[in-house]
Amino acid sequence: MTTTTADVTAILGRLITAASPYEEIALTDAMITAGLMWRCPCGANNGYDDIACGLCGAARLWAEDETPPRYEYGELLDDLRAALKDWFDDRPRIRRPAAVSFRVTTEYDDGSAWATDGATVFFSSSPQGLDYSHDFERSAVADALVEISEFDRPQTGDTLRIVVPAI
Ligand SMILES: [Zn+2]
Repeated sequence: MTTTTADVTAILGRLITAASPYEEIALTDAMITAGLMWRCPCGANNGYDDIACGLCGAARLWAEDETPPRYEYGELLDDLRAALKDWFDDRPRIRRPAAVSFRVTTEYDDGSAWATDGATVFFSSSPQGLDYSHDFERSAVADALVEISEFDRPQTGDTLRIVVPAI
């Protein structure tokens, strides 16, 4: 059985309905940490599959990928997204970002590449990203970045920002 976003929305709705007002606050915070709800910069909390804020109407931030314009990355991008999902699935206690972007480096041996360190994480609650302190070195994320770098060498000014799915 495949879980759909409709299932997630229904389950979370049941939990919220069952919660006391005190429990609802804790539950909402936990769901935002887990990426199962999202907080707008205005402060309102929104459902998993809402594309706009229910209070202020603003579009959900960081809901789209941004990639260099030269090629469609296709499966290479799917691999990177799956690797990022696994990475954050393994770290359930840190707040799950809406998206991650990578920097271009020329420090590696074989030309310009997407760096495994110095990434930026983005949360729906802010139009600014935050520096990510971990290095994706020797992970599936790093492997996916190598594949993309070999397919299309990044150029100065390129952006590679990938939405991280919560489920
Ligand atoms: Zn809002």
